[in-house]
Amino acid sequence: MTSIRTEALILRSVDFGESDRILHLLVPEIGRLPAIAKGARRSVRRFSGTLDLFNHVKIQVDIRRPNALARLDQASLIDPFIAMRSESARFALGCYLLELFDRLAPERGVRSDMQRLFSFALGALRMVAERAPDLRLRTLIELRALDALGLRPEFSRCVRCGSAPEGRGPIGFHVGEGGVLCDLCGAQADAIPRIHRGTLRALEQGLRLDFERLDRLALSGSSLAEAHQLLTRFQRFHLGVELRSESYLDRVLRSPAAG
Ligand SMILES: [Zn+2]
Repeated sequence: MTSIRTEALILRSVDFGESDRILHLLVPEIGRLPAIAKGARRSVRRFSGTLDLFNHVKIQVDIRRPNALARLDQASLIDPFIAMRSESARFALGCYLLELFDRLAPERGVRSDMQRLFSFALGALRMVAERAPDLRLRTLIELRALDALGLRPEFSRCVRCGSAPEGRGPIGFHVGEGGVLCDLCGAQADAIPRIHRGTLRALEQGLRLDFERLDRLALSGSSLAEAHQLLTRFQRFHLGVELRSESYLDRVLRSPAAG
């Protein structure tokens, strides 16, 4: 495989030198692919209007040298996700998702996984573009994005012993180990947040529902605030950094319960 024709989603686009542009692409066969578009800022013809954030494009890209940047030879627009740019909540949530993919999508990952990730990414952007995003939609899409990126939290079985936690009270959730701990295992762990059952059930449902039906899931008030806090801790722990787009998104979509 040397020069391939495929599709891509533009995750990041930065000027480079006097006339080039560096792009981070999400590509269905490969996963994350950094590439250089030579002369992109000089030649209006070759890349006109195609290299902006959110764009879903058809590309021809040269990936001949494994240790060098891929070279983007051609790009044409399939869908610019215009609606994403016209409203602040959509824009903020869209940027947040792109950054999450850019940080966590593997480079040259397993083909079938990367194809699934790519179609998830398009579906998620479409959902954001068609809705008026609120904290609930953000929380549910973020949960599914983490799952699609290989970071699926475990909400129903203890991550140490596999048992289903008993009783009805809140259950400990170990962010580093990625899921709930039963009381026995939880007693041996350092202080961990305890999450209400209703919140865990809603999150579990959020993982199982058809993606198109996701926004019908009931999640509000204190459960929503708790789910949002938990996913934020989970995401930050596994990423190791705070995403640049996160504080902007937080300002745009404030939690009603958190004030
Ligand atoms: Zn256990």
